[in-house]
Amino acid sequence: MFDLKLQYIATWVRDRGYASVALQLPEGLKLRATEIVDFLTQETEANYVMLGDPCYGACDLFINYSSVADALVHFGHSPIPSQGDDPNVLYIEADMPLDIQDKLEAVLSDLGMNVGLLATVQYLNCIPQAMEILHESGRNAFVGDGDARIMYPGQVLGCNCTAAYSIADSVDEYLYIGEGDFHPLAAAFGAGKPIKVFNPVTGELRSVDEVRDRILRRRFAAIVGGQEAQSFLVIVCSKVGQNRNGLADELVDLIRSKGRIAYKVFMNELSPQNLLHYRVDAYVCTACPRIAMDDALRYDRPMLTPPELEVALGVREWDDYVFDQITS
Ligand code: SF4
Repeated sequence: MFDLKLQYIATWVRDRGYASVALQLPEGLKLRATEIVDFLTQETEANYVMLGDPCYGACDLFINYSSVADALVHFGHSPIPSQGDDPNVLYIEADMPLDIQDKLEAVLSDLGMNVGLLATVQYLNCIPQAMEILHESGRNAFVGDGDARIMYPGQVLGCNCTAAYSIADSVDEYLYIGEGDFHPLAAAFGAGKPIKVFNPVTGELRSVDEVRDRILRRRFAAIVGGQEAQSFLVIVCSKVGQNRNGLADELVDLIRSKGRIAYKVFMNELSPQNLLHYRVDAYVCTACPRIAMDDALRYDRPMLTPPELEVALGVREWDDYVFDQITS
């Protein structure tokens, strides 16, 4: 069970005397939203409002919270330091304290001698124990610092694996502690080293090679679609941590310099329905890189990332394919 630190939130609200507080939760935690409001209402004098729009990361922070409340509690993600600090915003990272001793020891023989440790914020608390276990087994364990988009050593976001790149020269492979494919894939594409995924709940250790190859095949198909496209819609997202308007302008110039047609669109929520009416051959997404990677099949036209557009237009070699990243 993720630790939502409700008593800590109540103390923060009481001590600061907020009359109203907005609560922003990712989809996976919304099931607990009413429970959170019930608890905090009982413990404090404040009124609470739940923010109903989808929330995908701290990149999606509701910066206009003052239009509905005095303060904001954002659940499920760590701060993104480069987005700045607001004393009226509290981040509750909702980590999951776990003892991984037996599970990690059971798969140690599958690990190399120089291992880089990575995790999403929910499982960063497993890294010190994993380091200790690796050291005791005679292995070297490394934890890297990310750029200004990354809050903690070893932390990866789906759009930023700089914590992996900073130790790439020291490691033979990475051990990613967590679930899912997207975060380890970002490291696998960028760092050029093998990556193994260790699920700290089930103890499963697996490779992402097969998923990586499947995604690459799909991405190459999208790039071929981009090569044939005559007109592109370059998408800019208004979310505070996804807005790459400057990059979008550069891409528009690049497309036009190749004799093709480019349009730019600015929107908050990207969806197949929101793009349906634009009469173009392909999309270029400067918002969250997950959209092109995870959701591309939902869109009716090829959806390219910025580096994929470069390949499609012949200014980047196919061999130089890189995962799209949002850096500090
Ligand atoms: S841009 Fe995407 S991958 Fe990056 S933090 Fe936001 S939701 Fe996560």
